[in-house]
Amino acid sequence: MDEECLIVGAGPTGLALAIELRRFGLSVRLIDKAGHPAQWSQALVVQARTLEQFDRYGIADQAVAQGRKISAAQIWSDAKQIASLDFGLIPSRFPYLLFLPQNETEELLTTKLQSLGVEIEREVELISFENAGDDNRIRATLRHADGREERARFRWMAGCDGAHSTVRSGMDVAFEGTTSRLDFQLGDLRLAGQDVPGDELQVHLHPGGDVLAMGRLRDGICRVVLASHRQQTFDQRRVPDLQDFNTAFKQSGLGIVAESAIWMAPFSVNQRKAAQYRQGSVFLAGDAAHIHSPVGGQGMNTGIQDAANLAWKLAAVAKGADARLLDSYNEERGKVGEELLRGTARGLRLATASNVLLGRMRDLVIHRATDFQMIQTAMVRTISEVSITYRGSSIVRTEVVNGTLRAGDRMPDAVCKETGHTLLAALREAKHLLITLDYSFPEITKGLRQVAFVALNSHAHQWTPSIERLLGTGPGIYLVRPDGYIGFAGKSTEALRKHALEVGLL
Ligand SMILES: Cc1cc2nc3c(=O)[nH]c(=O)nc-3n(C[C@H](O)[C@H](O)[C@H](O)COP(=O)(O)OP(=O)(O)OC[C@H]3O[C@@H](n4cnc5c(N)ncnc54)[C@H](O)[C@@H]3O)c2cc1C
Repeated sequence: MDEECLIVGAGPTGLALAIELRRFGLSVRLIDKAGHPAQWSQALVVQARTLEQFDRYGIADQAVAQGRKISAAQIWSDAKQIASLDFGLIPSRFPYLLFLPQNETEELLTTKLQSLGVEIEREVELISFENAGDDNRIRATLRHADGREERARFRWMAGCDGAHSTVRSGMDVAFEGTTSRLDFQLGDLRLAGQDVPGDELQVHLHPGGDVLAMGRLRDGICRVVLASHRQQTFDQRRVPDLQDFNTAFKQSGLGIVAESAIWMAPFSVNQRKAAQYRQGSVFLAGDAAHIHSPVGGQGMNTGIQDAANLAWKLAAVAKGADARLLDSYNEERGKVGEELLRGTARGLRLATASNVLLGRMRDLVIHRATDFQMIQTAMVRTISEVSITYRGSSIVRTEVVNGTLRAGDRMPDAVCKETGHTLLAALREAKHLLITLDYSFPEITKGLRQVAFVALNSHAHQWTPSIERLLGTGPGIYLVRPDGYIGFAGKSTEALRKHALEVGLL
């Protein structure tokens, strides 16, 4: 029997997609050409939105226990502090940035995947493929460690195979964008001195446009990133040494010395996005679909959320929904990718501005703006990715409702003050969740498949944060998708049923 989905690449994106699809009961094969998982810290920041997703997999608590909570960011320019960002303002059960090395994140995901019965097939490389033929199947050629070539058929294939994606090349999809001319150096260093950061992120901007960013990875160890304008004479591939970092600490006027390193690496920054994330039965996700500057720690998190968006749609189509539902993957996640590239490029340009006047204006604006809690909240909502919305997507539907949330918005979790139950607990079962206010159940729920129900009715006031503010006080029906976004917000059961049909629930 053909497997339903071949996932190429067992980085964070491929692992998350395999977990999601297994949770929906689909059969998957997950291959990776590398003989071992990531060995270094690489992507360090796990954002609140990703932790919310990990909560659905039942691994959020362990991630939090293993990681380091970063509660604030302090921004300095020319040795003067210009702003402080409070991550405690993130409206989530996880109001912080979590520092967790990528190798540990991958280990958590791998263990979860194994518990769902899937093993990563290592040293298996996708060589080539033919997109769906007459039988609607993808034919993939896979090369094993002993040189043997295997031909296998799949209903779908997901390219989670990173920036140099074989899948993307095979699709002949453009990956357009630019390469930054700045030099970047990264080190996980043992630091000593009075200015070693605590559980906060420190960003030091220099008048010439160089930047030093650092945060504590674990006791005594910090991640340090340098961006510099030395590119004309500097060999980009040279592995940095302790002296590079110590010079930067001195330049920032910091009483810190790098004593030794766990890992040091140079890296370059590209801003590129695949022209489309879907071609027939083949999909792109993660770095295969978008790469960008490390500003804000978005890379890995965006890939993991691509996986959540794609998986429930594949599952719905596997169970009979119209295959046009899959078009919305490119529509929804492509837009997120575009905004991500714009935002991270702007952030990098501002942080590394070498024009002194522009630098001073930037400092003034950041200083003034972050004095307002509303602006701080908007900033940390963006960084934590909880502000991502699919409002306006062709597969969400809003009627008139009187709460603040609309279809396409992320549904925040809430806790019942009386029972301690969490509202979105049902999403852990890989289902949609129907939340009703002042409706009778049988009429609405008739025939709905894969849906859990919560009737709030007169109990809405018992939830915190305030469900009444979010969803309104009057009658209302909200259908939350398995990826945690509201697919339907309205009052008419007829409109709900039309929507349910489109997303494969009827
Ligand atoms: C030095 C460094 C530092 C970084 N620091 C940060 C950071 O601080 N913050 C951040 O957000 N991001 C950072 N990143 C980026 C982050 O690591 C990526 O965004 C993230 O790994 C993307 O995950 P992915 O699963 O999409 O792709 P990847 O992690 O690249 O995984 C792709 C996988 O596909 C496999 N593969 C490729 N081709 C094939 C094939 N033909 N057949 C089978 N398997 C294949 C590869 O072996 C690999 O395991 C850093 C990256 C590097 C290299």
